[in-house]
Amino acid sequence: MERAHEVLKRTFGYSGFRHHQAGVIESLLDGRDALVLMPTGGGKSLCYQIPSLVREGTGIVVSPLIALMQDQVDALRQLGVRAAFLNSSQDRETQRQVEQALLDGALELLYVAPERLLSGRMQELLERSRLALFAIDEAHCVSQWGHDFRPEYQQLSILQERFPGVPRIALTATADPRTRAEIIEQLNLQQAAVFVNSFDRPNIRYAISEGQNARERLWRFLEREHPQDAGIVYCLSRRKTEDTAAWLQQRGRVALPYHAGLPEAKRREHQARFLREEGVIIVATIAFGMGIDKPDVRFVAHLNLPRSIEAYYQETGRAGRDGQPANAWMAYSLQDVIMLRQMMNDSEADEQFKRIAHHKLETLLGLCELTTCRRQALLAYFGETAPGPCGNCDTCLQPPQTWDGTEAAQKALSCVYRTGQRFGVNYVIQVLTGKDDERIRRNRHDRISTFGIGREHSAVEWRNIIRQLIAQGFLDVDAEGHGGLRLTGKARPLLRGEVQLQLRHQPRPEKKAVQKKARAPVDLEEADLPLFEALRQRRRELAREQGVPPYVIFHDSTLREMAQLRPRDEDALGSISGVGERKLERFGGIFLEVIRNHVEEARSA
Ligand code: ADP
Ligand code: ZN
Repeated sequence: MERAHEVLKRTFGYSGFRHHQAGVIESLLDGRDALVLMPTGGGKSLCYQIPSLVREGTGIVVSPLIALMQDQVDALRQLGVRAAFLNSSQDRETQRQVEQALLDGALELLYVAPERLLSGRMQELLERSRLALFAIDEAHCVSQWGHDFRPEYQQLSILQERFPGVPRIALTATADPRTRAEIIEQLNLQQAAVFVNSFDRPNIRYAISEGQNARERLWRFLEREHPQDAGIVYCLSRRKTEDTAAWLQQRGRVALPYHAGLPEAKRREHQARFLREEGVIIVATIAFGMGIDKPDVRFVAHLNLPRSIEAYYQETGRAGRDGQPANAWMAYSLQDVIMLRQMMNDSEADEQFKRIAHHKLETLLGLCELTTCRRQALLAYFGETAPGPCGNCDTCLQPPQTWDGTEAAQKALSCVYRTGQRFGVNYVIQVLTGKDDERIRRNRHDRISTFGIGREHSAVEWRNIIRQLIAQGFLDVDAEGHGGLRLTGKARPLLRGEVQLQLRHQPRPEKKAVQKKARAPVDLEEADLPLFEALRQRRRELAREQGVPPYVIFHDSTLREMAQLRPRDEDALGSISGVGERKLERFGGIFLEVIRNHVEEARSA
């Protein structure tokens, strides 16, 4: 373990282990298997990288993300680690060189795609090489029920049969117990030490709002909180990703669409720009994101409802991997709810599957309509108990006002009933507010008792009320027809006045949120900003020269600390988190010079 600490400090430039890192590393150094569940950004990579450096032989990392191997290996090489990858994007000659390096014992880490690992040629090569460990990254890919299923992953159990003496470590950020059980089962990890971390991501601020004009509100959010930051915007349809990206471009942001319908080359290009340039926004369907280990994604925005809490948590988890403050922002509308319900009903899937899908959507809506801490609810969903309200979500920062909506709900429900449970939201609202309308007259709905009984609320307010009634399961949206509303069994006690109902006021959080904006833990003083910008500029130039993403040179958090502490010599610079020996050697002088120049200029000014 002493060696492990030394590598942590000297190679990676970090002063201590996080979470269960030390325990995991110790298990592997003892030759035991390990299963690691840690949220995104928790620091999974060090769990296998350090033992690979400490143990004799090469650490073999199985990863499904071919497109990202290059960046992972680049980052390691910057640290002075002898790392390489093998995949189909390389030419024959390069592949042969890497294979030879493996046989010669010249590699500390080798990244391989699962199908390659399972090939006869590779197996034979491995038998002739010295191996430190096998790391199976994104281990949830063995699960048939997960959304990232890869059949090759299920064959990885042969590693244990063929290489019984080599410890294996499986890692995932997927939290649910069912997936965990499946990983253990499929990969024969019954003897493994299991490390489960809290899934909380305290640096992510959650905010969810409902209403019209989601795009305009997105724009205000970006202007206010992220005028220059990189982030991801998720949309439901391909079309909408393209429209939204074009719209953001028009307003002066660099925004690129990403979805499964784009040509492979385009997708690769957009992903590369997102990783390599600063401040790029990717507007994507769910096809984007797995394994994106860009540490400085400052926000994830949803312009539509995701399908489930799992999907929401996974997607928002891509923000703030570096531990710096980040936002998870969602805007959804009544229309989303109706559309998702209809899509589920219309799908070809069997009844059981539909029921589960519906249930997941209901649970997600529950989260959206919550009036208490969102983080507590999210963690509870994953089986964790939070000690109290988090203070870093919208409902904590601005507790929503509620009102007694029992009478309004009764009016809406009886209006749905009296009009025959066939009509959609807009029609019902027109009847409630007593609108003079041709269709209403034709249906003789201007003569029923509920015509005009809701004039005390505006149409916008009624939309908000009805949405909450749908979200809370008092109303159902008819699948076959045109979004007709129907009462559910839950509606009856409410109509009879046996239960009371609290509703949320229409939230108006946009303005106030500014005042409440919490200061980031390492937020910079005004006076340090120019130096921080100068350091970023230098980093940008270096990254371009070397063809790597800027964060591979130094993370933002490292540059921030430099701007604050203003080290004068290599010793002082080397004590900053993220500055290891190799980087100190390569870049120390360059960044010290930026700091020196800046300090001198400031003095003479
Ligand atoms: P994961 O793979 O779990 O999503 P990473 O391995 O990419 O997370 O780590 C997330 C970030 O945290 C990286 O930038 C990494 O350098 C940093 N990190 C990991 N472990 C430590 C540590 N012990 N001290 C400081 N930073 C760390
Ligand atoms: Zn909270």
